[in-house]
Amino acid sequence: MGNRAFIGLGSNLDDPRQQVLAAFRELDSLPGTHLAARSSLYRSAPMGFAEQPDFINAVAEIRTRLSPHDLLQALLGIEHRRGRVRSFSNAPRVLDLDVLLYDGQVMHEDGLTVPHPRIRERAFVLRPLLEIAPDCLIPGCGLAADFLPGCTDQQLERLEE
Ligand code: ADP
Ligand code: MG
Repeated sequence: MGNRAFIGLGSNLDDPRQQVLAAFRELDSLPGTHLAARSSLYRSAPMGFAEQPDFINAVAEIRTRLSPHDLLQALLGIEHRRGRVRSFSNAPRVLDLDVLLYDGQVMHEDGLTVPHPRIRERAFVLRPLLEIAPDCLIPGCGLAADFLPGCTDQQLERLEE
């Protein structure tokens, strides 16, 4: 029951693997929400600002009764509780939680764009997303799988747990 949404997770500070694993549990305990599937953990090289640690990334599939806006607020709340401080764009972060997809919805609103505008160009989103949802469609764009060949130059390693 509930709406099917995909969340992108990323961390490169304060024990990133544990941050991402803890975030899966926090997603599962949000009101009206449960974790339906989670990808493996992946290690990616930082983008935009190279002088920072590698990232640990993953994607979660949830079922939720929260609206897209309430879901985003809940995600920002988890980030905040984990001690995230917003400094500059592409800065290192304890935890980043993004709404990648929310049902088949397309929204361009103040503070919330769905599908997330950078899904298509990021291997660290596409690979874990396709691991748990191989037939995934990005509304307004096409099959997620069709964008992976454009990202093969990005360093990404699937981790054993
Ligand atoms: P990024 O994830 O791009 O590195 P931030 O996590 O700092 O950047 O997000 C900045 C803002 O992006 C958030 O405050 C939020 O309002 C906005 N935003 C817009 N669309 C989304 C989305 N789909 N998922 C998460 N944040 C979003
Ligand atoms: Mg974010």
